Amino acid sequence: MLLKQGVEVLKGVGPKKRAALQQAGISTLGELLYYFPRKHLDRTVMSTAQLEVGEVATVFVTSLESYLAHGKKSRLVVTTKTESNMKLSLLFFKGVSYFKSVLKPGLSLIVTGKLEYYRGMQIVHPDFEILSSETDPEESKLTHTGRIIPLYPTTEAMKKEGLDSRGLRRLNQQVLQMIEKQSLEIPEILPTFALDKRKLLSRRESIIQMHFPESQEQVDLARRRFIYEEFFFFSLLLELKRKKRQEIQRELWPLQKSTSASKLVKDLPFTLTEEQKNAVKQFRKLGQNENPMAVLLQGDVGSGKTITALLTALYYIDNEIQVCLLAPTEILARQHYQTIYNLLGQSPFLKIELFLGKERVKAKREKLHRLQSGETLLTIGTHSLLQESVLFKDLGLVVIDEQHKFGVEQRETLRAKGKNPDILAMTATPIPRTLCLTLYGDLELVTIKQKPAGRKPIDTRWYYEDKRKGVYKSIKKYLEQGRQCFIVYPLVEESEKLDLQSCIDAYESLQNGEFADYKLGLLHGKMKNDDKDTVMTSFQKGEIQVLITTTVVEVGIDVPNANILVVEHSERFGISQLHQLRGRVGRGEHQSFCILMTSYQVTAEAKARLAALTETEDGFLLAEKDLEIRGPGEVLGIRQSGLPDFHLGDLQKHKDILEEAREDAVISKDVNEIEKTEIISRFSEGRILFSN
Ligand code: ADP
Ligand code: MG
Repeated sequence: MLLKQGVEVLKGVGPKKRAALQQAGISTLGELLYYFPRKHLDRTVMSTAQLEVGEVATVFVTSLESYLAHGKKSRLVVTTKTESNMKLSLLFFKGVSYFKSVLKPGLSLIVTGKLEYYRGMQIVHPDFEILSSETDPEESKLTHTGRIIPLYPTTEAMKKEGLDSRGLRRLNQQVLQMIEKQSLEIPEILPTFALDKRKLLSRRESIIQMHFPESQEQVDLARRRFIYEEFFFFSLLLELKRKKRQEIQRELWPLQKSTSASKLVKDLPFTLTEEQKNAVKQFRKLGQNENPMAVLLQGDVGSGKTITALLTALYYIDNEIQVCLLAPTEILARQHYQTIYNLLGQSPFLKIELFLGKERVKAKREKLHRLQSGETLLTIGTHSLLQESVLFKDLGLVVIDEQHKFGVEQRETLRAKGKNPDILAMTATPIPRTLCLTLYGDLELVTIKQKPAGRKPIDTRWYYEDKRKGVYKSIKKYLEQGRQCFIVYPLVEESEKLDLQSCIDAYESLQNGEFADYKLGLLHGKMKNDDKDTVMTSFQKGEIQVLITTTVVEVGIDVPNANILVVEHSERFGISQLHQLRGRVGRGEHQSFCILMTSYQVTAEAKARLAALTETEDGFLLAEKDLEIRGPGEVLGIRQSGLPDFHLGDLQKHKDILEEAREDAVISKDVNEIEKTEIISRFSEGRILFSN
């Protein structure tokens, strides 16, 4: 296969060029052809008439001559003329001899820089890109034909080896000539029905148009094809995985009826919402399938996901099938343990265990033994559950809380400890539909949208420092009524020590000053476990009135009596983080408040985030907003989410193409028609929720 040949078969590619290309991920001719321009410049876009002094200009010019000018500062002057014969001088104060050697007369160039006027038009130290040399007719033919100029991403190492846009174009030209001479085809890899249905350019034509474009329209078509191609193969991979999962057979069967689940429903201090009931029903139905289930339960913060997971778990536990619940933080794991213990503790059958992996050697060994012997039926824990020493007898259900906090491998590790277990992944970071299909297209989705009845909307306000006195006054008013309050400080890794200190300082000064008459508590990640426990328990019991804390309380924490959440330096938090934090209040019947404090200096982006928070409480809407502001890579964390790093495709911008590609991949029955190796080489790593 021609496209699989190494780049060294090309004329002029020696070991050095090869190494530079390899660094950029180009080893084969195929990879070279798929190394696409970062943009295509339309040379008619900036005509001379559009140029304005003082503004950044991008201009096509031909170099005329260069000379050294001496004065207060010596400089190299390269004179050029634009396509409409305007004179433009390029000035270089540094690297004079280098630029002189590079910018020979008779080159055709694109230059970018701030246009200045000083006895004529000039640009000082412009960025430039050499398009071709007029003295080399071969090359001028090659690049001068169209009005659209492709510009490639190039690294420093590539540039050093002459692999700038011009160099890359030369190489591509060689490959295309080889293909023509040997009358080889660039094989089509998309199914014909998709090409027809979506009116896509052929692969061969698209490659030519990307590198040697005829017009902007053709470039757009070529791009569209490659975006589609990326999405198509990704969707196909998801389909393959889904099919593969369907081949896995269930080994452990949860009961059809569970007495403890029915009893728990009766004993609950509230009635389940319709959506909660429906979620449990769906999990049970999936639990009866021949194949293990893989479900993503999406529900906004406070929608009551935990109870649905617990009720589901009982159908397994009643049948002596083990269940484990993985939580991202110790505080959350403890809380789950407490909640579940309180709900079920009296039940004689139930063997629940909290596993944090920090137990003393002997205690840990005993716990591990109870897991391995199957005595413990419900295990709640953190990352510690992923340790090799943790083995189960009959693990049949894996519940992953706040699943977005875990990476693909972690989820997979836990799954592998079971006997083809069912998986219930829960998340409070709602993912917009398109993205969800893309990321978790191989999962069943269950959504809880409504919150339990009786919840009042949270009153969210954004205040500058000048309102601080007033904020404290309101807090005290509610403390007097018996309510509780969170004050959250940011904690980011880079400035962890400083952040932690400001949290501790605030605790001390508030306890000794403003809130001297009240009981304050301090909670942060660096505290000893027992201390964390004590603080959390007294806050839950209402003994601590104000909890000064960091983002350790971000996920899951449930103290319904707390009705005020103050976020300090809220400009430093992201939308979803703030939304999660806000979810700490509004969990009881009291009117709740979320106060976002900021200094006066807030960036435009932060303003957009804070405004969004004050405007809506709808987690799905906020997630959309967040995606808009930050893009999916940032929002979900490329590696964490298993989101592939698409080259051209943008999950947000190209939603429509994504949906089309997905639709086609699902019905593309004969996967063999398409080269499987193609898929695997592109998305080789476990990049989705569960790799099988
Ligand atoms: P999340 O979905 O954020 O994990 P939780 O499961 O922690 O939410 O539930 C939030 C709070 O709502 C808990 O105190 C829980 O007991 C309570 N809750 C759950 N379901 C209901 C319901 N149907 N009615 C009233 N309160 C409920
Ligand atoms: Mg939760």
